[in-house]
Amino acid sequence: MESVYKSVSSQIDPRDLFRLLRRQHSSLPFNLSFYAENRQSMSLRQAVLAACCPLEGNVCCTEDCQHLWQSSLDKALLAKTPQIHLCPKQFLGFVLPLQRGDAPVGFLLGGGLREKAAHSVLAGPSIDDDKTTTLRTANQSSRALTATVDEAASVVDEIFQLLPRLLEQQLHPMSLARMTKSLESARFLAREIAQCGSAEDAIGMAAETLAVLFDVPRLLIRVGRPDQVGSTRAALGFSPEEIEQIEKGLPEILKVNNSAAGVLPEEALSLILPQIETRSAFFAPLTEGKQMLGLAVLLDTDLHPRDQALCDLILDRLSARLQQLKMEEDRRKERDYSTKLISMISALSMIDSQKELYRNMLEMSAELCGAESGSLMLLDETAASLTITAARGMSSPVAQSVAISVGEGIAGRVAQGGLPLMVNDIEKDERIATRNRPRFKTKSFICLPLKTGDNFVGVLNLADKGDGSSFTEADLRLLQSFVAHAVQMIERTAVLERAGHLEKLSITDPLTGLYNRRFLESRLDEEINRSQRQEQKFSLILADLDNFKIYNDVLGHLAGDKALQKVADLMRSTAREMDIVTRYGGEEFCLILPGTGKKECLFVAERLRRAIEVAIFPGESHLPLGRLTVSLGVSAYPDDGEGPEALIHAADLALYRAKHNGRNRLVLYHADLSQTLVAPGQAN
Ligand code: GH3
Ligand code: MG
Ligand code: MG
Repeated sequence: MESVYKSVSSQIDPRDLFRLLRRQHSSLPFNLSFYAENRQSMSLRQAVLAACCPLEGNVCCTEDCQHLWQSSLDKALLAKTPQIHLCPKQFLGFVLPLQRGDAPVGFLLGGGLREKAAHSVLAGPSIDDDKTTTLRTANQSSRALTATVDEAASVVDEIFQLLPRLLEQQLHPMSLARMTKSLESARFLAREIAQCGSAEDAIGMAAETLAVLFDVPRLLIRVGRPDQVGSTRAALGFSPEEIEQIEKGLPEILKVNNSAAGVLPEEALSLILPQIETRSAFFAPLTEGKQMLGLAVLLDTDLHPRDQALCDLILDRLSARLQQLKMEEDRRKERDYSTKLISMISALSMIDSQKELYRNMLEMSAELCGAESGSLMLLDETAASLTITAARGMSSPVAQSVAISVGEGIAGRVAQGGLPLMVNDIEKDERIATRNRPRFKTKSFICLPLKTGDNFVGVLNLADKGDGSSFTEADLRLLQSFVAHAVQMIERTAVLERAGHLEKLSITDPLTGLYNRRFLESRLDEEINRSQRQEQKFSLILADLDNFKIYNDVLGHLAGDKALQKVADLMRSTAREMDIVTRYGGEEFCLILPGTGKKECLFVAERLRRAIEVAIFPGESHLPLGRLTVSLGVSAYPDDGEGPEALIHAADLALYRAKHNGRNRLVLYHADLSQTLVAPGQAN
């Protein structure tokens, strides 16, 4: 009995039935709805509401009312005849059993007709007014139709007589014709969906298709995980607040239906979405294999199982198209990423400082996977702890204060295990199971070990994907290939920096930190070449401390060294930015002043002399002049010489003259000097 009932009732499409009845009975006064006990789509209450108060502002059914309808239904089932009742609000309703042979198919419910007492004919418009056997509308918009019980009974009886013939002879072909038509439309539209060039178009087209094909007044389609709010991509007939409510209720709704397509039972609907007023709600997931891509929600529609299947078909087509578009998008992204990767790696290869490299590595990795925060940690020399070398989305004092022991915490464990870690939800991941720290916006992160060859050097952490989503396998793969290239740069810059350091060692004087004579000689050659090309002048100063042997003898070598360091500092700070200060040897210094003629050089040299004269050196009172002083000789390119030796020789001659003239002074070279003076070294 049950199976017959089901198979027959599932063949009845209420919309076809109503259409047929209205065709036969052109001014049928009742609102109609259809109810079948095992038909999932509408509960009795919903069917009653649909029949009795389909217009806004109409009287709503009370509990008593429901009992009344239930009892009419029971009687109709038992007696197999229509039952008419009058509700406490004076509305007429009927329940008419539908049979096929002996098998009950369901019930036709009629309502929304106000009872007119038989004697109050003049009270308002009624059937008698236009002398027909049918009833007419009093005022279409708000006032319900009226009829006496007898009039209503005769209409109901008429329908009852009519029905068997209608069901047998017309409903079937009508349904068939309709089915063929909707199948054709669905097939055509499904093809259109499959050709949409963007997800937006495909979703829009699917929404339109469903709305038109099934007469759905309210529907929405969303794409994304069920717990992802704000992913509704097409909506019809909903306010933004309603969309938000539905999105929030989705995880619960899916639980009720076990993620399968179907009508949400009325109780569940009012529990999960109390603010949404609707007669019925149909939910259909968008799936691809076992993966759920999204969901379609159709409200206020009593979808026939056949239409539910069609709806599924259209949504399947949409899912397939969305997946296809996503794959195309992924491929395009991958191509873009490869290009980006190459340009990033080549940008990295231009960097020769490790610090810069780490900062750039972090920034680029974050850009690749859309991470808003992250850090790059390096293993310290003892290989016991990791310290943050570069940070993003974190204040640098915080970053500098974080040191993590290897083996501890997430980064510490990755450092120890040497394998990358990608976590979707830090609080749910069994490997971690720890509370998310408040400074992170999302619960997903990636932690990658950095290795050069077999040596573990550090960890790259990335968190807070900009769009709030979780990191994906694709992100991880991309980062791994980037990091594999980038660590090679770490090795390269390490070598470069070591070489730079060595080179620096070979050109600086260890005591004063000034450039040494070797550097001076090569720099002097360069300066001569450049000045020659650009037809510019430059000057050279030789400075020699006065009576420094005595200073050493009296105060000791250590004090002598300190005095030399102080003199070096004074020279560095007194010379100009562009000047090159070198320790020429012992207590002698040599300065190159690029682009500076002898006259300008005079000011710089005098400033140097003065700076040393006024500076206080311990024990300097023991010196013959009562303080530590310097003598200076100045020569200039090209006037006093065009080669390095000639220039130095000229400066030396001038210096010798300064000593000769009493020390603590400066002398500019001029040609007479070489004639009048004995060469330095031959003096005494
Ligand atoms: P003058 O005014 O003629 O230049 O006299 P002077 O004593 O400075 O000249 P001299 O060339 O005779 O002595 C240079 C002294 O500088 C010899 C040495 O004691 C001292 N000296 C040279 N290099 C260093 C050094 O690296 N450290 C220390 N403490 N003293 C140095
Ligand atoms: Mg000397
Ligand atoms: Mg000296």
